[in-house]
Amino acid sequence: MSATITFLGGADTVTGSKFLVEHHRQRLLVDCGLFQGYKQLRLRNWAPLPVVPGQIDAVVLTHAHLDHSGYIPLLVREGYRRRIHATPGTLDLCQILLPDSGHIQEEDAAFANRHGFSRHAPALPLYTRQDALASLSSFHAERPDQWFEPIPGWRARYQRAGHILGAASLLLQVGGRRILFSGDLGRSDDPLMNPPEPPPQADTVVMESTYGNRQHPPGPLFAELGPLLQRLAKRGGVAVVPVFAVGRAQAVLHTIAQLKAAGQLPRSLPIFLDSPMAIHSTALFEKHMGEHRLSLPEVHAMDRVATMLETPEQSKSLASRHGPMVILAASGMATGGRVLHHLARYAGDHRNMVILTGFQAPGTRGARLASGESVIRIHGQEVSVRAEVVQIESASAHADGHQLLAWLHRMPSAPAQVYVVHGERAASDMLRERIEHKIKWRAVVPEHASVWPA
Ligand SMILES: [Zn+2]
Repeated sequence: MSATITFLGGADTVTGSKFLVEHHRQRLLVDCGLFQGYKQLRLRNWAPLPVVPGQIDAVVLTHAHLDHSGYIPLLVREGYRRRIHATPGTLDLCQILLPDSGHIQEEDAAFANRHGFSRHAPALPLYTRQDALASLSSFHAERPDQWFEPIPGWRARYQRAGHILGAASLLLQVGGRRILFSGDLGRSDDPLMNPPEPPPQADTVVMESTYGNRQHPPGPLFAELGPLLQRLAKRGGVAVVPVFAVGRAQAVLHTIAQLKAAGQLPRSLPIFLDSPMAIHSTALFEKHMGEHRLSLPEVHAMDRVATMLETPEQSKSLASRHGPMVILAASGMATGGRVLHHLARYAGDHRNMVILTGFQAPGTRGARLASGESVIRIHGQEVSVRAEVVQIESASAHADGHQLLAWLHRMPSAPAQVYVVHGERAASDMLRERIEHKIKWRAVVPEHASVWPA
């Protein structure tokens, strides 16, 4: 029997990436992500996997974002005992992200119980910080560009994908087939990360399509963020910037450091990074110098531009300050974390701003804000939105539609099949159509939980 791929997540949606490759009763899971966004998606996190975790032989991660790694603590708690393969950068980031994810789940459950707005009594966390810490000992670092054997007879090799520290595409060889998982691909013009390496020849490609139907505007983040923050500083407002702790937080900090150095923003404009996770991720830029575009002085300037707030007390103390100021806090789609308290406090004032910096999955508060909703719910309360809400597309860590197609087309010759995943339906369909019409390769958009030949 030849190998198959079951699309257990990241199909029909951008979140929950889990691709199960099976061959001769052996099973390898590529990515192990959380579903985020709409409630019916998040409920999938609570349903048992269709495969028993103890019967999976290897897990291989493409990168550390929670929609690719955030299910790991649960998989290990439910009986997965083998290795979790990841690049050194991904391993470092998962040590920060996964315990924090457990902590946030515990806090949200506790908050729901205190304020009695959960329909379940008591509300339980999906997993705890302790579960996450316990899963970390299963991680095993694999260098990019070197073959490793996740299962005897299976070969795998990472290559850099840009996007965030440690992010990689994965080439898998099994049963005489070469299967390439693009992972999340960075943009060729990212201010922070190197461009993704071109794809090696493969028989099958599993290709992301987050921005399959969109084009990023020309001009760097610098040009978009500068005028916004100048306006904010003039009117004395507060900008709340929901950021992905890994990647976008650093892109925004680096850009603000550049704007201040160029005299385009007052050096006195206070900037706060209110996310322990983002603070620790920023420090990793110095450790993984080869993976990004910044020089050491630029890394230090990025580090110094913001006041770092580690403790909840420091975070709360912001509430007694007046504008102008800029607060960066996670999570990037305003689904949880400290940014919710800042949104609840500042969204109601028209002098303030909410600056959205990355992809906002449908159903998240970030997507509601981006679509101009005038009331959002935070911790069971209605918050009216009078602040100026801006989405800056140039802050995206993803390749856009043109860049995705251009990356794929660099494969030496046509693969037998392309599976288009990791996008909302419209984005995946648009990329599939362009692959079929512009470069005339076979492409399909697999449905959630469907099984296809590898
Ligand atoms: Zn990602």
